[in-house]
Amino acid sequence: MTPGTEENPLRVAIVGSGPAGFYAAEQLLRADGVVAEVDVYDRLPTPFGLVRAGVAPDHPKLKSVIRVYEKTAAREGFRFFGGIEVGTHVTPAELAQRYHAVIYTYGTATDRQLGIPGEDLPGSHAATEFVAWYNGHPDFADARFDLSCERAVVIGNGNVAADVTRMLALPHEELAATDAADHAIEALRQSSIREIVVLGRRGPAQAAFTNPEVRELGEMTIADVIVDPAEVELDDASREFLASGAADPTNRRNVEILTEFARRKPQGKERRIVLRFRRSPVEIQGDGRVERIVVARNELYRDDEGNVRARDTGERETIECGLVLRSIGYRGVGIDGLPFDERRGVIPNEAGRVLDPGSGEPVPGVYAAGWIKRGPSGVIGTNKKDAQETVDSLLADLAAGRLPADADDPESVERFLSERQPSLVSYAGWEAIDAAERSRGEPQGRPRVKFVRVDEMVEVARSGAPA
Ligand code: FAD
Ligand code: NAP
Repeated sequence: MTPGTEENPLRVAIVGSGPAGFYAAEQLLRADGVVAEVDVYDRLPTPFGLVRAGVAPDHPKLKSVIRVYEKTAAREGFRFFGGIEVGTHVTPAELAQRYHAVIYTYGTATDRQLGIPGEDLPGSHAATEFVAWYNGHPDFADARFDLSCERAVVIGNGNVAADVTRMLALPHEELAATDAADHAIEALRQSSIREIVVLGRRGPAQAAFTNPEVRELGEMTIADVIVDPAEVELDDASREFLASGAADPTNRRNVEILTEFARRKPQGKERRIVLRFRRSPVEIQGDGRVERIVVARNELYRDDEGNVRARDTGERETIECGLVLRSIGYRGVGIDGLPFDERRGVIPNEAGRVLDPGSGEPVPGVYAAGWIKRGPSGVIGTNKKDAQETVDSLLADLAAGRLPADADDPESVERFLSERQPSLVSYAGWEAIDAAERSRGEPQGRPRVKFVRVDEMVEVARSGAPA
């Protein structure tokens, strides 16, 4: 009998409880004419992916999207299995045996590499690690960042670069009122960093910042924003780009905002954010740890397709610094037993249908959505449309009889998972963690004080009551 009825619901596993996972769950649970049951897995006891562990603590409004996900979690047919890492506790094959379909939405956990000498010197970190540390991701609870230097260099011109720059420039009182991890609030309180230099390899017209994020860098209470007028002056390639259809209003507005920054007189605030353009790191140097970064001056040109690219002029400068945060993008990692495109760092797919690398054909019942499907770009909302495309493919396959016919019943799946992971955390367990975190935050006027250790989270989830 085709699944999707009251007697035989469509049973789907979703691997990863970030935005893509939650949007896919919602779309399945409210699909017309299909009765679905959805189990959402996460390797952490806590759901919501980068909304909890990525979005900057000083942007609490952006986290209100969690209320939408809470409504999904309240739907009949939804279950959460926190603490299950697919690839460790269960294999893709074991999931495939137990569900009609599996959607992989496990995001992109690691960082892209610059590939320059000195990249791995102590004091040079991927922004992914710094972000996870200040947001209390349990994998990074014991990470250490030496903030005893006066100058930090952030590489990259995206919104993550803007986030980490703000975190280094926020006054203690502002940070202390957020849900940033306590260890980060304390370490940043003691920070000696007075200047944050942000390096963009191309020009202001090509910066990947969105307008509010770049504008915010000029609105910091204790940091001046400094831009050299010569570096925002448009070169020929950028002028042509801005005049062409390839540029969008965000590019144009960024140029206006950055040009206005270049006209400002520094007010002598205690910290400085220095935005540099057409500068690429070529080497990170130091005796046993980061002491300086060697930077190339680039010129811009348009390639045959009209893209503006950076080219090294051969000119060098050295910037003394003690901390380097490399913020040049996230990168997906493969799971054993699942197709993976190593070059692009994504699961190969067509409209969300995972493709067998050998035959190029879709693997029946296996799908992908979110960053692991399309790569690490786009805001939270982008994942809604992306998940819809995947869910549409899945529902079309269901209608066409292309899904595996059998699935296990919900109880036996739960028994199987509890054997594999005795510290399984249900959605009710997460709600207990959530309530405990909020009540810890209340006396301090903070949204929550996060638990940063998995064993603490599991204990609170088990006790079901605030700690
Ligand atoms: P993720 O959110 O990464 O979720 C993936 C989930 O899968 C995680 O919970 C992870 O624990 C889990 N997982 C990983 N591996 C496994 C496994 N093997 N088994 C089980 N579970 C696993 N967008 C905005 O709109 N506003 C912002 O302010 C904003 N800030 C951002 C800040 C940062 C630092 C970053 C990196 C991104 C930000 N974004 C923001 C973008 C937004 O967070 C992403 O578009 C979105 O989170 C991607 O969703 P996803 O579900 O694909 O992945
Ligand atoms: P991103 O937007 O792709 O930016 C990456 C930056 O790194 C670009 O400036 C890129 O420059 C640069 N870069 C790449 N390779 C480089 C190299 N080898 N050397 C020097 N620079 C290099 O990525 P992201 O900042 O990680 O953000 C990921 C996504 O999350 C984005 O869609 C972002 O908008 C979203 N996000 C949103 C928010 C928010 O809404 N507040 C906050 C954080 C993140 P080129 O352009 O020259 O390649």
